[in-house]
Amino acid sequence: EAPLLEVKNLQTAFDIEGTDYNAVDNVSFKVKPRQIVGVVGESGCGKSVMSLSIMKLLPKGIGKVKSGEIIFDGINLEKMSEAQINKIRGKDVSMIFQEPMTSLNPVFTIGYQLQEVLFNHLKISKQEARRKAIALLKSVGISRPEKIVDEYPHQLSGGMRQRVMIAIAIACQPKLLIADEPTTALDVTVQAQILELLKEIQEVNDMSVILITHDLGVVAEMCDEVIVMYAGKIVEHTDVDTLFHNPKHPYTRLLMGAIPKMDEKEERLSSIQGIVPSLINMPKVGCRFAHRCPQAMPECFTVTPLLEEVEQDHEVACLLFETSIPREGVK
Ligand code: SF4
Ligand code: MG
Repeated sequence: EAPLLEVKNLQTAFDIEGTDYNAVDNVSFKVKPRQIVGVVGESGCGKSVMSLSIMKLLPKGIGKVKSGEIIFDGINLEKMSEAQINKIRGKDVSMIFQEPMTSLNPVFTIGYQLQEVLFNHLKISKQEARRKAIALLKSVGISRPEKIVDEYPHQLSGGMRQRVMIAIAIACQPKLLIADEPTTALDVTVQAQILELLKEIQEVNDMSVILITHDLGVVAEMCDEVIVMYAGKIVEHTDVDTLFHNPKHPYTRLLMGAIPKMDEKEERLSSIQGIVPSLINMPKVGCRFAHRCPQAMPECFTVTPLLEEVEQDHEVACLLFETSIPREGVK
């Protein structure tokens, strides 16, 4: 089956005081129809930048896609005009964020904000839009949608607001939904309800989902395939069972050890020593994880690992798994 989304050699740079730094570096992957692909890694690993690149929502004048291709449903998004992208965004591809980032507009009712998306993309009367807005609220599990439709965001709980965000995102039945830490701001019980809702909607609507999270527990529950990102690069990519039964990259293995029990609320990946290098301190050669890796070897600081298929459908970027080491003249 042809992929719905294909990202090829994506390189996204941020301009910091006149110099370009790659926040996403040579990332390639595919998302098949109806597939849920998880993207995991600590914050600062490029997960959000990658999704903003796909959505063409990088901050203007600061972030830009330097090279690579983003092919969605057979169309190269990199070659499209702003107007063409606006037709696709919110309709065929849509996105939900962690709550604080994109809280709903406080001055408009829930119904107004839902209808706005419908009007943008569909030829629909006012009455129809209102009816559809109520139906959408109902479909995301909001009770008394006829009342909620006329309420303002501050009148709703965090979980309800996230349900409304999901309703807006799926209003035009997108083929692809990108969910960036959709439950991180919510407490554990609400988190589980929202994830269940997402899964249900994914099945009913035959949608593909890219689920960005720092929580491997969420990945295990939700995803078909997993991409592990570290410092702007993919370090491991395989299906979810393989990842959990046979994790290979030292970073992935450390993340596994960092899965907390359900009742622990503290920062989930805190048990890995050290921090992700910032964009301006990114090592130019060698493995970007080398200074934190318990298995680092001297060559890890001078040879940059390549993402290679080490077993069928299992890609890893780590010198421990490269067969052609030492590589001559490779940076
Ligand atoms: Fe660790 Fe070296 Fe593998 Fe990087 S390449 S993850 S430093 S063993
Ligand atoms: Mg993020």
